[in-house]
Amino acid sequence: MATELRLPTTNIVLPDKDRFLDEHNPFEAMMSRFDRAAELLDLDPGIYKILRNPEKQLTVSIPVHMDNGDVEVFTGYRVQYNTSRGPAKGGIRFDMQVNLEEVKALAAWMTWKCAVVNLPFGGAKGGVICDPSNLSVGELERLTRRYTSNIISLLGPDTDVPAPDVNTNERVMAWVMDTYSMHMRHTASAVVTGKPLELGGSAGRKEATGRGCMIVTREALKELGMPVRGTTVAVQGFGNVGSTAAMLLEREGARITAISDRTGGVHNPQGIDVTAAIEYVRRNRDLDGFAGGDPITNDELLTLSVDVLLPAAMENVITSRNAPKLQAKIICEGANGPTTAAADAILDEKGIFVVPDILANAGGVTVSYFEWVQNRGGYYWTEETVNTRLEEIMTRSFTDVRALARQHKVNMRTAAYMLAISRVSTVHKLRGIYA
Ligand code: NAD
Repeated sequence: MATELRLPTTNIVLPDKDRFLDEHNPFEAMMSRFDRAAELLDLDPGIYKILRNPEKQLTVSIPVHMDNGDVEVFTGYRVQYNTSRGPAKGGIRFDMQVNLEEVKALAAWMTWKCAVVNLPFGGAKGGVICDPSNLSVGELERLTRRYTSNIISLLGPDTDVPAPDVNTNERVMAWVMDTYSMHMRHTASAVVTGKPLELGGSAGRKEATGRGCMIVTREALKELGMPVRGTTVAVQGFGNVGSTAAMLLEREGARITAISDRTGGVHNPQGIDVTAAIEYVRRNRDLDGFAGGDPITNDELLTLSVDVLLPAAMENVITSRNAPKLQAKIICEGANGPTTAAADAILDEKGIFVVPDILANAGGVTVSYFEWVQNRGGYYWTEETVNTRLEEIMTRSFTDVRALARQHKVNMRTAAYMLAISRVSTVHKLRGIYA
């Protein structure tokens, strides 16, 4: 997984079909898929222009008192891509690779994702350039609170509702919620999702993205006439999404033959004991030293001979360089943007069935929506109710996208974008342009 592949930010230009496509710029990757779907939908030119641009983007400097007495200044972003269907919704990422192009792409993906599963939300994303593994708990709390305070004019249960993403978790969401509540002078649970249960979090939220991946993988296997039992699966990224998806697929009878994280991975054709791996990571922070199989690199994992490949780490890991070597029959995109646009065509040629990110990992935002609904109603559901409703939404959305793909003879990714863009476009048409 190549950090060196990330390029500096560029300005958006209106599309020129022959322009050079930067394979590793996530915003460009998102836009090239958007353009294709817009063309097939014969999208109204005015709406096309609106949807190619984020509504709002904020860059903030975040001064933090470090434990050693120094002051460090971090850079953070919040981008609201589109709010036509409801409050902006999207996670906050703490990572050294965060940059504005990435945050914009992730905010756009949130817009399409919420529309694919038909939630009354728009899309947003936030990020801070930092390495949380080098910060003490106190430093992380001060950073989170000052970032929240600096973007507070955007936040609110009716305007913009963050959630966890890479390197942020329930504890970080609790600090966001408390900081916002202190500013507003009242407790505002619905300003953020992915909170601890005691603060109004939803049962089932932590597992929701991985559960959604399991559900759509099961649907994709059904589509290809393959049983879940005995299916072999390789999972890249063993954090919230990857480890939960691996555990739930194992429970359904699949054999997880490879897992990895930022420290590398393990391969065991007999099947990895996922529960033991999760316990190992809980104790040791990462998979480094886990003895459940032979060591394997992240690149090797992607090209293993497995039925299902589940990238659940970062963007741009499946590229035109390694796509020809992939052997999986199904790719379930747990991560956001794991496949570059240039790789799409190669995967199509190879006949690999791709469940695209905006559908595959929508389980998280779906249960975030349930959490927001529960906070606003002040009435809480059982985990069984949450999981049943999640299952309904994920299977219905898979069926909707599959039907559109058949109707237009396009792949699942293009169909998912077409469904999302047509839903967002309909709302824009109904609302008109305020002048
Ligand atoms: P996480 O921080 O819990 O886990 C990330 C995992 O990826 C870790 O195991 C980490 O070691 C690994 N990783 C990081 N860099 C890597 C690299 N260069 N090579 C290999 N592995 C690497 O994050 P998460 O919440 O599981 O998110 C993973 C992906 O899923 C991200 O793309 C995120 O945007 C997406 N996603 C998350 C959610 C959610 O609810 N958490 C929802 C939708 C999409």
